[in-house]
Amino acid sequence: MKARLLRLYAALARRYGPQHWWPGRTPYEIAVGAVLTQHTAWPNAARAVAALRAARLLAPARLARQAPPRLAAAIRAAGTPRVKARRLRTLTTWLLARTGGSFAPLRRQPLGPLRRELLGVPGLGPETADAILLYAAHRPVFVADAYARRVLARHRLLPRRAGYEEARAGVEAHLPSDPALFNELHALLVAVGKAHCGAVPRCDDCPLRFDLRGRRPAT
Ligand code: SF4
Repeated sequence: MKARLLRLYAALARRYGPQHWWPGRTPYEIAVGAVLTQHTAWPNAARAVAALRAARLLAPARLARQAPPRLAAAIRAAGTPRVKARRLRTLTTWLLARTGGSFAPLRRQPLGPLRRELLGVPGLGPETADAILLYAAHRPVFVADAYARRVLARHRLLPRRAGYEEARAGVEAHLPSDPALFNELHALLVAVGKAHCGAVPRCDDCPLRFDLRGRRPAT
């Protein structure tokens, strides 16, 4: 599995080049973006991030002081603003209590307990928590989102209906524990998912077609 995953990665990198994920000027901005993009497309979340920046709220202490209605108004573009405002405040309160608002200490904590702690923050599902760990804290966690699971399952690298945790653990078990690799692999799987591997796979011109070896994608 390791060799195949690395071949897929190399083929995607050749086709799409560096993905420069995750967009964000600071680790905190990346974490905020990870919450804001829940259940919405990234451009909507990016508009909300820009609104927070314009309001000078992309700093943990300032955001935590905001009244919930004002915060919700600022992030309206991301959808479900009251829910996401509450989640941003909860995450930010956790971060302030845990590290004073810095992500640097999170780079040194034992990963397993840290991940469990983050998963205990209300409003953070595994995908959001892992995006924060990988992209904001540079920890070696694979974000096994729906794009990644669909591509890997169609290539029989994961069971057909593998859930998030099974997929994450499976990929992490077979690849070097390297945040840069997990970062780029996830971004590239999203790229091929958007370009070719949607609800109906369009394999003809896909950079991963070679790996099917003449077989149809698993369904
Ligand atoms: S479109 Fe086809 S070849 Fe491309 S990733 Fe999906 S299943 Fe694989």
